[in-house]
Amino acid sequence: MGNLRCVYMFVAFKRYRNLHIILERAQRPIPNAEYNLVCIFKAYLHPFDAMKSIFTLPFLLGFALVSCTNTTSETTESEKEEKEVELTADTNSPVLMILGTIQDAGSPQIGCKKDCCKDLFTNPDPDRMVVSLGVSDGKGNNYLFEATPDLPRQFELLQKNGKKREKNTPDGIFLTHAHIGHYTGLMYLGKEAMDADQVPVYAMPRMSAFLSENGPWNLLVDRNNIELKGINEGEVVQLDEITVAPILVPHRDEYSETVGYRIEGPNKSALFIPDIDKWTKWDQDIINEVAKVDYAFLDATFFSGEEINNRDISQIPHPFVIESLEAFKHLTASEKSKIHFIHFNHTNPIIDVNSDKAKQVLKAGFKIAQVNDCFNL
Ligand SMILES: [Zn+2]
Ligand SMILES: [Zn+2]
Ligand SMILES: [Zn+2]
Repeated sequence: MGNLRCVYMFVAFKRYRNLHIILERAQRPIPNAEYNLVCIFKAYLHPFDAMKSIFTLPFLLGFALVSCTNTTSETTESEKEEKEVELTADTNSPVLMILGTIQDAGSPQIGCKKDCCKDLFTNPDPDRMVVSLGVSDGKGNNYLFEATPDLPRQFELLQKNGKKREKNTPDGIFLTHAHIGHYTGLMYLGKEAMDADQVPVYAMPRMSAFLSENGPWNLLVDRNNIELKGINEGEVVQLDEITVAPILVPHRDEYSETVGYRIEGPNKSALFIPDIDKWTKWDQDIINEVAKVDYAFLDATFFSGEEINNRDISQIPHPFVIESLEAFKHLTASEKSKIHFIHFNHTNPIIDVNSDKAKQVLKAGFKIAQVNDCFNL
């Protein structure tokens, strides 16, 4: 695992150039074996970057040495499993990337005086972006899942890690529903911002109607900043080698229906359900749905009912992580390892992968999604 640790820190160093963050990353578990090679090849190993690295090498080597010697003896069962994953780094193949992991309201959340947020107002963590996935098809097309308030940085990250193209807007944005974290990033495409030209936005019928019939979003439609592409349950959107299928899920549907997505590449497939009320309220069996894919990015808003003491948690239902651990406890190790928890409320202790609760989740064989994780599709 030592080599992977070095590579992971190399990425942290290249991305952040900030000692505080690099030191923090040095303590984290390696998020995903594929992350290391796919992301490195895609983003960091082109000649110009390599040249720049020469100047930073002495510093990096010092860290890598300390880090690697610390970790080689700590190989856990799940790390052994990851080692066995076949690592490929074909820059021309489709890849899915985690661009954000946090619940709609972000982290830190406005007014939060608790330990979860109090230091983040003055010392923000650049990885605390609202939930989003990116897909690069290996041919220069880049797609976003969700239009979050962090969309500008997320699109930049996706382009940097995917096969870059000079285009300055996504080739498509897939929306799940009309809650603030999932669509308000569309504002960056409007007249007050870049005044984009016909960015394809894939949306279900109620979601499309919501955008076309309500200001300020209808301005985006009327001015052709976005081009609404209607999608429907049971229909598949074909994007060259990649297919995307919306799946209806039960959620608080004030303004739109809510969907998750099944995303299929030529080799691997993924399920993305960032918001759902409870697994038991769904007419589908989540265990069957996980069985159909290679990766599942699932709603983990709250760890348990205990972390919210100022709100009636029954009014904001989500599958608690502890409920999911119970529901998935009889799955095989390989099925469990598909599940990556995502969409964390600011109060959820597993945002900090060094917390006891996060260790409990990882030890049980599940994964915790991290920004910049990459997965071959
Ligand atoms: Zn949400
Ligand atoms: Zn907080
Ligand atoms: Zn929601």
